[in-house]
Amino acid sequence: MLLYNSLTRKKEEFIPREAGNVSMYTCGPTVYHFAHIGNLRTYAMEDVLEKYLRYLGNDVKRVMNITDVGHLSSDGDTGEDKMLKGARREHKTVLEIAKFYTDAFFADCERLNIKKPDVIEPATACIDEFIAMIKTLLEKGYAYEAGGNVYFDTSKLSKYYVFGDFTEEDLEVGVRDTVEEDKSKRNKADFVLWFTKSKFDDQELKWNSPWGVGYPGWHIECSCIASKHLGEYLDIHCGGIDNAFPHHTNEIAQSEATFGHEWCKYWFHVHHLNTNSGKMSKSKGEFLTVSLLMERGYDPLIYRFFCMQSHYRKNLVFSWENLDNAKTAYEKLVARVAALKPAGEKIDAAAFAEGKRRFTDALDNDLNTSLAVTALYDVFKLDTSDDTKIALIRDFERVLDLGLIEAAEKIKNQEKSDAPDVDPELLAYINEKIEARRAAKKEKNFALADAIREELLAKGITLVDTREGTKFTIA
Ligand code: AMP
Ligand code: ZN
Repeated sequence: MLLYNSLTRKKEEFIPREAGNVSMYTCGPTVYHFAHIGNLRTYAMEDVLEKYLRYLGNDVKRVMNITDVGHLSSDGDTGEDKMLKGARREHKTVLEIAKFYTDAFFADCERLNIKKPDVIEPATACIDEFIAMIKTLLEKGYAYEAGGNVYFDTSKLSKYYVFGDFTEEDLEVGVRDTVEEDKSKRNKADFVLWFTKSKFDDQELKWNSPWGVGYPGWHIECSCIASKHLGEYLDIHCGGIDNAFPHHTNEIAQSEATFGHEWCKYWFHVHHLNTNSGKMSKSKGEFLTVSLLMERGYDPLIYRFFCMQSHYRKNLVFSWENLDNAKTAYEKLVARVAALKPAGEKIDAAAFAEGKRRFTDALDNDLNTSLAVTALYDVFKLDTSDDTKIALIRDFERVLDLGLIEAAEKIKNQEKSDAPDVDPELLAYINEKIEARRAAKKEKNFALADAIREELLAKGITLVDTREGTKFTIA
């Protein structure tokens, strides 16, 4: 498989260090607010990458951190701590905020068929590991103490700016503002590994360390959590493009200085979801969530489909009109799948191989999901049996995971259940539950909403969210 590597700025053959075993690290969310659909674009594309690597026969071990401490609102180690800001906004403790938004994040991922990573590690669970790495960096002369904090000394590296995709001006953004503010730094690009001198007196989460009571910088968590679970070598590291600098640049600096060798070979960066007014951003406060899409009657998998229709290395512009187009296309696709009639025939091996070849050709070329979707449409044109077409769609769905088979089944069931006369008592009960679930979702009580759905499911009643409201089918 050819994959664009941000480190070399080339498409390269992806070859893990150990054949058939891929170690993959993903920067997780900062859990001070709901994930917006821009964040989730990044996670959806990483999910496709992971699933495709598995589809190709690899075993993938994927690790994700949860940033529940130490992410400041400016990437230049200035500004307010995002977690603390979130806690203040909601009059809760930082840990309460972290728990709530971590659960909300994984609930959104589930709705988008984004698989949970094999290991999920909150930063607050790894303080000992952070301290150990910072100690090593100090011992090796890559870090220094100044003004109560521990800094990484970027001048000790032969090459600090490892990602070449930036102009000098871009690179300055993360560090420029701190020049006057932080007099303790030896070099403007130096960054904090451990704070004891909080700029915020009431920083909630603090730990003992050899340098005094304090808390870690943001970047150290990913270096430590990756090596804790995946060792000193990493095959592939993923994140949104905004993380390349300074976050990933600093991760590389810390890890390679600690281990004394190259750390991660491939860097996979997903470009942004933008609105007409620019990048969708949590800190700007204007953003769209999966729940909001659902409230507006969009199945979350329509958003996944929308993401698959564009290449991960291109910015994607969100508009309701674009999403509506994706919805229409998705629903047509589902209807075409539903119209296929399995007849229990033997799979046509030649047609299957041909369909599969188009699909893998697309994804082998730098994860071209939009061409993979075209390959999916091509299945309907193949001169072969419906059984073979269904087998191909099932096969592609191991990667695309658009819920096409399930949605097609629902249509078929719907067709059945549109006719039957439901017992009025049962109908009243179902409507009451639908209303209770709608109210729970409005209050963002997704646990209750899911419990209601499960309660009905146990009785053979499946709820289907549509633009016209929630409908149901009875098994
Ligand atoms: P955060 O929770 O802010 O740490 O971000 C989580 C992930 O979403 C990171 O990998 C970011 O790079 C990524 N991200 C942030 N904004 C966007 C956006 N507008 N489009 C796509 N990915 C984004
Ligand atoms: Zn990270």
